[in-house]
Amino acid sequence: MGAKKHHVVCIPFPAQGHINPMLKLAKLLHDEGGFHVTFVNTEYNHRRLLKARGASALDGLPTFRFETIPDGLPPSETADATQDIPSLCESTTTTCLAPFKKLIARLNEAGDVPPVSCIVSDGVMSFTLDAAAELGLPEVLFWTTSACGFYAYTQFEKIKKMGYAPLKDTTDLTNGYLDTVVAGIPAMKGIRLRDIPSFIRTTNPDDFMLRFISQETTRAKRASAIILNTFEALEQNVLDALSSFLPPTYAVGPLHLLETSLTDRLDQLGSNLWKEEPDCLNWLDSQEPGSVVYVNFGSITVMTPGQLTEFAWGLANSGQSFLWVIRPDLVSGDNAVLAPEFLKETRGWGRMASWCPQERVLRHPAVGGFLTHSGWNSTLESLSSGVPMICWPFFAEQQTNCWYCCNQWGVGMEIDSDVKRDEVEKQVRSLMVGEEGEEMRRRAAEWKNLAAAAAAKGKSRRNLRRVIDEVLLGKV
Ligand code: UDP
Repeated sequence: MGAKKHHVVCIPFPAQGHINPMLKLAKLLHDEGGFHVTFVNTEYNHRRLLKARGASALDGLPTFRFETIPDGLPPSETADATQDIPSLCESTTTTCLAPFKKLIARLNEAGDVPPVSCIVSDGVMSFTLDAAAELGLPEVLFWTTSACGFYAYTQFEKIKKMGYAPLKDTTDLTNGYLDTVVAGIPAMKGIRLRDIPSFIRTTNPDDFMLRFISQETTRAKRASAIILNTFEALEQNVLDALSSFLPPTYAVGPLHLLETSLTDRLDQLGSNLWKEEPDCLNWLDSQEPGSVVYVNFGSITVMTPGQLTEFAWGLANSGQSFLWVIRPDLVSGDNAVLAPEFLKETRGWGRMASWCPQERVLRHPAVGGFLTHSGWNSTLESLSSGVPMICWPFFAEQQTNCWYCCNQWGVGMEIDSDVKRDEVEKQVRSLMVGEEGEEMRRRAAEWKNLAAAAAAKGKSRRNLRRVIDEVLLGKV
């Protein structure tokens, strides 16, 4: 790899679902765009990555380096800084601009790397736009949500003006009010208030997340361009709607399908904050094709001990083989403890892990369905592996992703937030061996083909090239 002239600084929001796609994009900018890359983690996550993956995980190349800035949160022995999203949003917004600018100044003074020529920042780290403006650099905002989730966020102000939110009082959460169809959002006809990102569910007009979302989506207009980890065939409607009021907006995903021919060293750089248990892949090797339901609720979801128990017995009673990834902190207030009777009953056909290489799991032929929290990365990884889903959205735009999976893309069925074991059993059977699951699998296979086409030589790859040439390199 020869000397590089252009230098991009990539800065993700410091949570798992944001770091993963940003790292993939950064690798592509290095290998396909020819950029020198500086990837900025928070100090906290840098330590987590070293612990989970060992020093080699962050041992880049001379032309691909990691740097850190503080996240601004007070140190804590017990709390996981990647999981309290409102606190992280508040602290990054109020404290990270100064260390970010200082870092860029240091890189520019160092002399051993090309001067910083552009910034790619997470969409919810829009303070970086101030640094870019001061230095006269182009900045691309990467919203790591679905396009539909991002579009729903951009409608928050309108939803408030129309009087749907904030809620009148907390009984609106249970009295059926959330089933109201939201009028006035043309690109999302028929969407209910419950499918709008969860931050809208507050009675406080001054709620921090409500203000934060409006602030970040308004500031997005200042970016040189916006990119999304999706593909046009999947979300054309909302992508068109976004393009009508935002800077040039490009769909460049699924990124995990674009990064096919990376240099070996870059290929090995990973971003998992938890230690992976790759053994579950060996277990999948021993299972029949399409026979395993994979269960994983991502990096942030927290459930009650009661909900864990309902999922457990629902899975056990379904009689379907399962691989269930249970993060140590999945259950609120306690370690996730499963009843010995459940473990005894499912021994042999139920496998547990605490963190897995999810992309590889979803691509494994033994996996026939996914019980998911509908995080965007998980949804996209599932769709592009042809795996249909049972959706149990937890928060943020997961509700919107779920609505699209179930009502627009034909690949999902929703499970009630007040989860009950009978419902889990019924839906898992329907997903794995029922007619509904079969139809969803057929649709998922179609999306898988379209995703692969977009990434191979299709629109997503061409869009990435345009972002590089027209925006980051400013050739046009
Ligand atoms: N992930 C993983 N192993 C796990 C759980 C999650 O590799 O056991 C990855 C997953 O592939 C995805 C990310 O972590 O890329 C989770 O992002 P998502 O948007 O689905 O959910 P979040 O964690 O942000 O709620």
